[in-house]
Amino acid sequence: MRPEDSGATGFGALGFGAWDLDLATQEMYWSETTRKLFGVAADQPVTLATFWSLLGPEDRARVERGIDRARVQGTSFDISLQVPGGAASDSQWIRVLAGIVPDEAGQPRRLRGIALDINQEKQLERALRTREQHFRSILDTVPDAMIVIDDSGVIQFFSTAAERLFGFTEQEAIGRNVSELMPEPDRSRHDGYLARYHATQERRIIGIGRIVTGRRRDGTTFPMHLSIGEMQSGGKPYFTGFAHDLTEHQQTQARLRELQSELVHVSRLTAMGEMASALAHELNQPLAAISNYMKGSRKLLAGSTDPNTPKIESALDRAAEQAIRAGQIIRRLRDFVARGESEKRVESLSKLIEEAGALGLAGSREQNVQLRFNLDPYADLVLADRVQIQQVLVNLFRNALEAMAPSQRRELAVTNRRVGDDLIEIVVSDTGTGFQDDVLPNLFKTFFTTKHTGMGVGLSISRSIIEAHGGRMWAENNSAGGATFRLTLPAAPQDNREF
Ligand code: ADP
Repeated sequence: MRPEDSGATGFGALGFGAWDLDLATQEMYWSETTRKLFGVAADQPVTLATFWSLLGPEDRARVERGIDRARVQGTSFDISLQVPGGAASDSQWIRVLAGIVPDEAGQPRRLRGIALDINQEKQLERALRTREQHFRSILDTVPDAMIVIDDSGVIQFFSTAAERLFGFTEQEAIGRNVSELMPEPDRSRHDGYLARYHATQERRIIGIGRIVTGRRRDGTTFPMHLSIGEMQSGGKPYFTGFAHDLTEHQQTQARLRELQSELVHVSRLTAMGEMASALAHELNQPLAAISNYMKGSRKLLAGSTDPNTPKIESALDRAAEQAIRAGQIIRRLRDFVARGESEKRVESLSKLIEEAGALGLAGSREQNVQLRFNLDPYADLVLADRVQIQQVLVNLFRNALEAMAPSQRRELAVTNRRVGDDLIEIVVSDTGTGFQDDVLPNLFKTFFTTKHTGMGVGLSISRSIIEAHGGRMWAENNSAGGATFRLTLPAAPQDNREF
């Protein structure tokens, strides 16, 4: 008997179509609903050839394989097909299920089954896949590492940035406990943290964010800022963590502190040098006077008959020698401090400026400062001590940032240009407070500062450094407000790079 689908009691009412294939004659029977699904007219005869004509080559091959398998192994048959121009307007998804019906001798005789409309499922599947793809592309592109865990700490998602940060691939990470990405003591305590949160709902990091330590696959650790969000899915809580690597930030901060302390160190030395030279200048005259008085006294003693005269003469000679020695010591001290240690090499200005910028301008983005480095590649090579020039630049950048803090418009421009054959000028210009009346003449004096916590040595040292390089350094007010510092450095022969 043929499976019937018409009428209120048939499969048709449920949206199922029936079909039947005679394996010997290849005759086919399709019920009304099956015909509708495949888009075949009610009066059109249906054969296996009709069926094949409706399928693409791949689907046909799959169906053929399925039929063979069912015939040989007696297994049932379950294939989803896409038919162009079936019941739906564009294309129709149909799931075809069937089983073997044997003849009296037990041999496979017919393949009989149902066909059902699965368009809706496929649409849902497609929508889901699209969402999954969107989610994936977000996971692949978020710059911060993103990790989703379930309520027992097991990793569910692991973004591309997380792979880079922690050294695990996504496949390796999924299924692991997130505590593996932490060093001790958090590592052993994390399950407890989760349990406590479930029990008390007390938020210690969720929604707050904190700086914590992460652990890479190789066991090394690094500082990161972690913010965590909570979501519910399928009645279960999940936690999404965004981890931002702070290594570079902290290295920058450390390097900046180092540079600053170097700068202060150099400043103190230079301040000492300046004091020594002032002392030498001040003491030279009294010392010379002492020495002259000694000589005069010695001459006066020349005619004396006092038995102590030779002793007094020798004492006066020695005193004069000591006065001269004292002068020499001070002069030598000045020379020693003034000489410093500088190593001049051919350096690329753009590199020096960029590096100094990375150090001196850390935090400028948060302050909304616009940077404009407008560097002329034909005025790039200078003869300079890299560390010293960077100290000068870092000091200029920090001063500019401080001066711009109260400003509405915050722009810092750095340019360079060739002035004459053998000098390159660097111009650092800001939109800060500029200089008040009494500031400009004192700007480069040691210990001159207008800041509560300032030392007032940065600019005087900077000028000494630039002058020791054979350049000049000066400052001016901008007509539109703000300050401009200019300094020159000796140009090195530019190579013939093509830009
Ligand atoms: P400090 O920064 O410790 O005060 P500096 O020698 O670097 O020492 O600077 C001396 C002074 O010069 C500052 O206190 C400030 O008044 C002034 N100054 C430096 N740079 C700027 C600038 N870009 N804009 C306005 N004033 C500045």
